[in-house]
Amino acid sequence: MKAHDALYVDGAWRPASGPELIDVVNPADEQVIGQVPAATAEDVDTAVRAARAALPGWAATPPAERAARLTALRDALAARKDEIADTVTAELGSPLSFSKNVHAAVPVAVAGSYAELAASYAFEERIGNSVVHHEPVGVVGAITPWNYPLHQIVAKVAPALAAGCTVVLKPAEDTPLVAQLFAEAVHEAGVPAGVFNLVTGLGPVAGQALAEHPGVDLVSFTGSTAVGRRIGAIAGAAVKRVALELGGKSANVILPSADLAKAVNVGVANVMSNSGQTCSAWTRMLVHEDQYDEAVALAAAAAAKYGDRIGPVVNAKQRERVAGYIDQGVTEGARLVAGGSEPPREKGYFVSPTVFADVTPEMTIAQEEIFGPVLSLLRYRDEEDALRIANGTVYGLAGAVWAGDEAEAVAFARRMDTGQVDINGGRFNPLAPFGGYKQSGVGRELGPHGLTEYLQTKSFQF
Ligand code: NAD
Repeated sequence: MKAHDALYVDGAWRPASGPELIDVVNPADEQVIGQVPAATAEDVDTAVRAARAALPGWAATPPAERAARLTALRDALAARKDEIADTVTAELGSPLSFSKNVHAAVPVAVAGSYAELAASYAFEERIGNSVVHHEPVGVVGAITPWNYPLHQIVAKVAPALAAGCTVVLKPAEDTPLVAQLFAEAVHEAGVPAGVFNLVTGLGPVAGQALAEHPGVDLVSFTGSTAVGRRIGAIAGAAVKRVALELGGKSANVILPSADLAKAVNVGVANVMSNSGQTCSAWTRMLVHEDQYDEAVALAAAAAAKYGDRIGPVVNAKQRERVAGYIDQGVTEGARLVAGGSEPPREKGYFVSPTVFADVTPEMTIAQEEIFGPVLSLLRYRDEEDALRIANGTVYGLAGAVWAGDEAEAVAFARRMDTGQVDINGGRFNPLAPFGGYKQSGVGRELGPHGLTEYLQTKSFQF
């Protein structure tokens, strides 16, 4: 795997100020596949200064020209799709087909959507005797996780650039290589120097320095609730804008009238894809007590079919964390019907697709985000009980409802405290606002709602 030994700052690859390096490890075989620089606070400062210097020029660039750069960026990403897929498979461990169809393909669609939005968005509107201008917020500090490494970068950088903001990106330390590929694509797309900057580095060093930097106007973070809470506090103290996309414990509610086999099979696939490392995964399956045993049998059979085709989890720490949750589930009295905490292979950070039955709402595995291929099946008595369970966590990111009749599913979904609900297996929509209720976060990503996060209004009265 090709790795740059430098940071991309002010339009060029420049050495970091310190000697520290981060090893990039392939989680499937535990081999080191590259090294990237660990930026210092000084490097972050240099990058923020470059972004500040580039801001007036980029903010004043006509939207049509910003759109043209984003179109070029989409094309550059599309041209590198195989390299992107190979890189994500190498550093994250996801199967190559998933890397191609999701990790490489979705960012192309999202970059394209922001090229179109930059060209068509009404950055100026008339309200009564006012003209309201939608202006860029300024310099964006973007901090991203490893689970959908390129998607999460594009979901922040593309709308920021469309809005006229400039960006300093601190990607996850586990997946910096695809972030470097992204920087190459930005460069190729002719985005002016300083508009986008990449600092690879450790969260508590480079990430924290970026969140705290007074030259950053908006911090956009995706990752754990623990770090998100901290970033929210830092931003609050400095009175700067913040967007937080955090964890989830989403409910997959299967109403009695649903096609049970379909709902269970799609539900299991949803949890196992990306080895369960999806913040919006439907990790709690809620089934009526009369259909519960049948659903458990279906889910156990579906999980067993996956074997280790799902790929490893991202690193040793994550595997320990997931195994710890599985053990805790057993200790608290849940019944293991597939998988378990025992590693299925000697090498690589693999976890067996795991299904728990007899999970009750107060159990740790029903409340906390595990971020691994672990599904919990809960039984409900009636619709009110299902709703109470569905809404009974601190999270509210996503969810699903299945019913024989779409209107019945929609009626239930309207009462769920969550940012997205897929009705009878509805497809992912890259233009629909994505983000959390409750402790799943603040703000929305994707589509026009994602663009407005990077804008602030100025009104002129006439
Ligand atoms: P994390 O929150 O530690 O890391 C996310 C990003 O934040 C990374 O770029 C990291 O370098 C950075 N970061 C870490 N500490 C920081 C700090 N003090 N200041 C600024 N930035 C900092 O997440 P993780 O440790 O990689 O994963 C732990 C758990 O987080 C997972 O098991 C999962 O539950 C959750 N998670 C959620 C998402 C999501 O999409 N919602 C993504 C990844 C992880």
